Amino acid sequence: MKIHEYQAKQFLARYGVPIPPGRVASTPDEAAMAAKELGTRVVVKAQVHVGGRGKAGGIKLADTPEQAAAAAAAILSQPLKGLRVDRVLVEAALDIAAEYYVGVVLDRNARKHAVMMSAMGGVDIEEVARQSPEKIAKAWPDPLAGLADFQIRDMIYDAGLQRSLAQQIASVARALYQCYIACDATLAEINPLVVTSDGAVVAADAKMVIDDNALFRQPELAALRESADEHPLELEAFRRGLQYVYLGGSIGIIGNGAGLVMATIDEVKLQGGRPANFLDIGGGAKADLVANALELVLMDSDVRGVLLNVFGGITRCDEVAKGVLDAAGRVGLRVPMVVRLTGTNEEEGRAILSGSDLVPAETMQEAAEKIVALVGGA
Ligand code: GDP
Ligand code: MN
Repeated sequence: MKIHEYQAKQFLARYGVPIPPGRVASTPDEAAMAAKELGTRVVVKAQVHVGGRGKAGGIKLADTPEQAAAAAAAILSQPLKGLRVDRVLVEAALDIAAEYYVGVVLDRNARKHAVMMSAMGGVDIEEVARQSPEKIAKAWPDPLAGLADFQIRDMIYDAGLQRSLAQQIASVARALYQCYIACDATLAEINPLVVTSDGAVVAADAKMVIDDNALFRQPELAALRESADEHPLELEAFRRGLQYVYLGGSIGIIGNGAGLVMATIDEVKLQGGRPANFLDIGGGAKADLVANALELVLMDSDVRGVLLNVFGGITRCDEVAKGVLDAAGRVGLRVPMVVRLTGTNEEEGRAILSGSDLVPAETMQEAAEKIVALVGGA
């Protein structure tokens, strides 16, 4: 889950990252008021979950409250990269001498968090990583010991950051790392970390992505979740407590176990079908759970068939079959559905389905072939 710049800055400030004084505004009048209160030249920044706002016209400097109002009016009146702008951040403008980059990101390959620093801040850091990776210094903190001082010193040296600012940069890096860990983030970056002409180090921009799977223990962050930038079906899945990913095809896929669901998606694609979604209902397949899952999948009006792939281990296949029949009846299934049952009591399970409209299948391949045929190609 992404949070807005002004929200990320509030969290970073709690951990000791210096941020410019600022106010959030949702109208031009509020922006003018904010600029008046700040009493300096301001920068008016669109608050949307997308980067590169500067280049897209979402960031404007204003010398007076009147200019701030005009800037806010312009930014709020049109979508930025397709996203509606509801709020702007009005912040004291900085006198920029240099723009650095500092970030923390989950490095799945290293199975650790990676901290990065670069003197090439302000610009698109992914571009720097592609064109000149040596310009980005990295360290992988020990997960228990945290970010060590020697790692910070090495990065400041390797990235060629100004040595006289080492204390200030180190303090920002430590605070950023602490905030990242405490918030269960998978990304926290300051780009640019501005060096002002009088030698102060300030976070001019902030971006944070929070691990969705940690939101249960991050109520303050979970409350910042916004429906606008999520797929409505994924949001509905979140409400229903289901592990669902929208894929945009015509064949609904439900299975128990993430690996099994992914394999099913592959098989359907191999047979020429287009999976509409990923949906893992986890262990077992009780009628309530299957009904909940089926209802969700059928909310997608593009779905013209459903493939349910269940491995009956602890939950026996005959119980699963009864649950599935019950669920199909309850939701008023309007499209063909193939059910592949394997595991304990699979024959009994298939026998239960045989008198119904549901199409039983023995293997995953057979199930995929059948649903693709029933849906009628792509
Ligand atoms: P982004 O384009 O969405 O990444 O937004 P940023 O907050 O990073 O702003 C983009 C650029 O605006 C920065 O790299 C600065 O070069 C420029 N800029 C100029 N003056 C200011 C200022 O006073 N504050 C901030 N934040 N950016 C400024
Ligand atoms: Mn930026």
